Amino acid sequence: MILITNHKFQRFYDVKVNDLLEYLFYCKRTYVLILYSYEQRGSLRWLIVRIIFHIDANSAYLSWTAAAMLEKGYRIDIREIPAVISGDPLNRHGIILAKSIPAKKYGIATGQSLFEARQKCPELAVFPPSYDLYMLCSNAMYHILLEYSPAIERYSIDECFLDYTASKNRFGEPLKIAYEIKNRIKKELGFTVNIGVSTNKLLAKMGSELKKPDQIHTLWPSEIEKKMWPLPVGELFMVGRATAQKLQRININTIGDLAKADPNHMKALLKSPGLLVWEFANGIDDSQVTLNSDIIQKGVGNSTTISHDVTDRTEALMILLALTERVAMRLRRLGYMASLVSVSVKTDGFIRYSHQLKLQSCINTTTEIYEYVCLLFDQCWKGEPIRHLGVHVSDFQDIEVRQYSLFDNRDSEKLQAIDRVVDRIREKYGTRSIIRGRFANGNTNAVQGGTNDSDFIMMGGYKQ
Ligand SMILES: [Mg+2]
Repeated sequence: MILITNHKFQRFYDVKVNDLLEYLFYCKRTYVLILYSYEQRGSLRWLIVRIIFHIDANSAYLSWTAAAMLEKGYRIDIREIPAVISGDPLNRHGIILAKSIPAKKYGIATGQSLFEARQKCPELAVFPPSYDLYMLCSNAMYHILLEYSPAIERYSIDECFLDYTASKNRFGEPLKIAYEIKNRIKKELGFTVNIGVSTNKLLAKMGSELKKPDQIHTLWPSEIEKKMWPLPVGELFMVGRATAQKLQRININTIGDLAKADPNHMKALLKSPGLLVWEFANGIDDSQVTLNSDIIQKGVGNSTTISHDVTDRTEALMILLALTERVAMRLRRLGYMASLVSVSVKTDGFIRYSHQLKLQSCINTTTEIYEYVCLLFDQCWKGEPIRHLGVHVSDFQDIEVRQYSLFDNRDSEKLQAIDRVVDRIREKYGTRSIIRGRFANGNTNAVQGGTNDSDFIMMGGYKQ
């Protein structure tokens, strides 16, 4: 029997003779197969070097907004002027979610407050986020990628891993196809991507992070020393700011320094992630491209900075209901049920606190989520003036596998049916086409967050 394995002999796949011949053919033309004449339990073992692409949309939120605006007839490409996508641009203290390259030149960074950014560049153009548009763009990109391989992992809204190993026989040289994908996304969808090409996910991802935008980079194992090791250690995947500081304290400044360090020393310093980042610095990563057609979302949240300080409980609860409406709609659209609900509050003194509750059963109806939101809010609010409120749900389960709790005596089926109808009306006629009666006479926006949605139908002909 012939087995295929990684270099640590951890994963084995049976190989048919025909497949093996194909692999050998493959090997002759490229560098892809390495033969291990290694005898163990009477088996010959082989190492297949995979070909992995990491596709990453360049400043996704901003370029997707730009592409959508151009398609609608807007004359200015906001990628070419100092522009940002910012949460709550009409309110106080929005946070910068994405910036154009000209905005970056003013020193504007993601995560900065809009106030700070405007001080750096008074003529800054500000646009609100539109999560529905982003999903549309992300799906359109995914559908182009699917034409080249079924083995795609949607890593985040703007990033995918694609396993090209088996596609090579059909489509040919990986680099040629990487360019084809990049150019098609640019032409058909109107935004640019970086693609990293290598033999594992880590190197592909690090490759796509090299010079941006609109670039293809290979980061083959033989190129690690030249292309990856000179980079600051903080740029390595999984090395956060705190870890980078710890490493710098012992004079590990570049990825190369980390790669050459003693792995046991790294483990002692950083606990178990120490070994992982040491392996990453050496370009070692055996993780598979895990197929998923949906973006793995761990949580759905929605929050808002309020234009005035809220001191009244009823008003706070109205805002929370409006936030919950959007959260619950997004949850249902993803086809999930959630079992963890949390509420966050930021006071006028910038004190932030949150409360969460793990439920016995999973829920997805607006009414049920809102009941817990109210409970949590009452538990955590101490009566201070509120400037920011948030609702978040997580710990998902697929809708089909809902477990009914014995204590669940509400008529969930009925509530779900109502939500289905409301969702359908909103999908067809817009988010604000149907609102709860209690919002009718008030000033609170009935469904909050994710502005600019529902009237955007297509991008490059791809449907949601
Ligand atoms: Mg990106």
